[in-house]
Amino acid sequence: MEIALIGNPNSGKTSVFNLLTGANQRVGNWPGVTVERKMGYVKFDKTIKLQDLPGIYSLSPYTPEEQVARDYLVTQEADVILNIIDVTNLERNLYLTTQLLDLGIPVVLALNMSDVLESQGRKIRLDKLSYLMGTPVVATSALKNTGLTKAIQVAKKEAGSRSDRSESVVYDNRLEAAISQISDLIFGLVPSSAQRFYAIKLFEKDPLIWQELTLSDYQKNEITEIIELTEGVFTDDSESIVINERYLFIEKVAKEVQSSSDELRMTLSDQIDKIVTNRFLALPIFALAMFIVYFLAIQTVGTFWTDWVNDVLFGQYIPKIAQDFLNWLQVAGWLRSLIIDGVIAGVGTVLGFLPQIFVLFTCLGILEDIGYMSRIAFIMDRLFRRFGLSGKSFIPMLIATGCGVPAIMSSRTIENERDRRITIMTATFMPCSAKLEIIALITGAFFPENPFVAPSTYFIGLITIVLSGIALKKTSFLGGYTSPFIMELPTYHFPKLQTVLTYAMRKALSFVKRAGTIIFSLTVLIWFLSSYNWQLQQVDTDQSLLAGFGHLIAPIFSPVGFGNWKATVAAVTGLAAKETVVATFGILYHNNSQSGLWKALELDYSSLAAYSFLIFNLICAPCFAAIGAIKREMNHLAWTVGAIVFQTGLAYGISFMIYQFGLVLGYGKPITVETFLALLLVLIFCYFIFRRPKASRQEVISLSTLGELSKEV
Ligand code: GDP
Repeated sequence: MEIALIGNPNSGKTSVFNLLTGANQRVGNWPGVTVERKMGYVKFDKTIKLQDLPGIYSLSPYTPEEQVARDYLVTQEADVILNIIDVTNLERNLYLTTQLLDLGIPVVLALNMSDVLESQGRKIRLDKLSYLMGTPVVATSALKNTGLTKAIQVAKKEAGSRSDRSESVVYDNRLEAAISQISDLIFGLVPSSAQRFYAIKLFEKDPLIWQELTLSDYQKNEITEIIELTEGVFTDDSESIVINERYLFIEKVAKEVQSSSDELRMTLSDQIDKIVTNRFLALPIFALAMFIVYFLAIQTVGTFWTDWVNDVLFGQYIPKIAQDFLNWLQVAGWLRSLIIDGVIAGVGTVLGFLPQIFVLFTCLGILEDIGYMSRIAFIMDRLFRRFGLSGKSFIPMLIATGCGVPAIMSSRTIENERDRRITIMTATFMPCSAKLEIIALITGAFFPENPFVAPSTYFIGLITIVLSGIALKKTSFLGGYTSPFIMELPTYHFPKLQTVLTYAMRKALSFVKRAGTIIFSLTVLIWFLSSYNWQLQQVDTDQSLLAGFGHLIAPIFSPVGFGNWKATVAAVTGLAAKETVVATFGILYHNNSQSGLWKALELDYSSLAAYSFLIFNLICAPCFAAIGAIKREMNHLAWTVGAIVFQTGLAYGISFMIYQFGLVLGYGKPITVETFLALLLVLIFCYFIFRRPKASRQEVISLSTLGELSKEV
């Protein structure tokens, strides 16, 4: 007789396996993969073979471990499944259980870690759980070695009475109707006990199952129709419907079996979630939260310090002290210029925004620590999936508010190659900490009283990601199946001051480190280029090498509002590192900044041009480090170049529209050819966003496409 041992990672499965088998173990690999395979015989009953399966969260084969477990289980070799459950984490663990029950193999639940539950003074009503799940339940503790023998005995008995699947787990009528219709359609094609498993998987559009079963065109069309109908009824995609229903069922079970004090503790978090993740309220709440974060960082607390640091510390004290010190040392004129006009003006301006960075990350750290950020990912998953995008893409985007490089690297968690590429191409549209400097500079100089400008960049970044994601998803080379992601929502708790401050300090320190290294080197370079001409003679900034280069390319940026050579140069140097945009302004406006950098900027640009400049820098190609990360992750030159051209082109297009429409609508300027071009651009963007996808829904589910896609999954 064979018992399959399965459970979530860290449920105590290995401990249970070792206790039950002792030295009677054989370790090898599952065929074709590097996933470890362990089997053994039960110490006190050698007729029972125990097959250890990899620790997994679900039976959707997105990882080799899940694939191995699923392959083994669908062959129906196991007589009974012993599902090890971390009882302190009941809801998450039961998610896998609901899937195991679909397979039609008898399941016994071992509620492991019951000693922990006991020490916490909590109780679970075993008989009720057993009744609700329709399977036997045994409390175990691998630590205290209790309940394990009983679990094996119960499992042995269950295997003998092999019956059809338990009828206890029932979902919404409308979903059940779809499942039973699909079951009827595949009658005879799959083992009758596992019919429900296959029907649900077909409903979820699981590519591997669609490929595995040889369905006739009639069956395929009927099933597709059932899926589309049900999706219409639920106004959700089929996979989300199933995930949702499983969790709703589990939530109900958990409420019934946990003691009242647990219920109370859970419901507080649940009640908050009811509001925070509510279909209609979730996005406004999120918008408000981010508005407050940016408002605090840029407009209030942050600025208070930044104004002082920029205007007083780096504007007066430090240059004066440095000047006196250098005079005293009698250093050469060029060196004095390098230090005062280059390094202090450049690095100083960059460092001036340190307080804002610190406040921003303190706020984000708090949102993260109390558990709100995982809700955002959950809400965004729902939103993204509606547009056929992967919800997993939002994790890299959250990371991108810190820095684009780790964000691009974190796209590795997305298994679907096409979704991964889309994420890599768009994640850097989020304002990272370096871009925050540009935001703070432009807001401070041009919109000090307007609280909407700074948060608008966050939302423009986010909306650009969603819209360009939709457009890219509709192309033939990036369209297709989207893998879902399942995430755990931790209980809310009060923020821990230490965690939050450590997080913010770490971000601030890495920012200071960058200012002292890469930004320092770049300011030296910019100072040199802005102080010398071709003959290497020290000249006025306006005659410098940099001015020559700036004048050459400035016309390209006239239509988007910042044809001024200084802004052009700043945008280009931003490629090296986004902080350099600010450093470049610091250096180029150093000499006429007696009244402060912000005043000097105001004289040269209109607020509209400044906003257009801000949005261009937000969306255009990221810094070299992030481009390097894109190249590593894309692993293909054409894709890398394509991504950069896409980002820069898109940035130019959006800035162009903002500037041209702004001229007419905000400044009352006459309509020109450019206005029409901007209008045409809007139409082109709309076409790419709203056109029918190249790979239609029908095709997505057709076998040939799935065959190709499943290789990628
Ligand atoms: P696996 O990842 O599911 O194989 O889990 P392990 O067997 O490696 O266990 C994860 C951790 O939980 C280890 O530190 C175990 O010592 C601990 N553990 C396992 N079972 C129990 C239990 O019943 N009670 C307690 N308190 N700890 C346990």
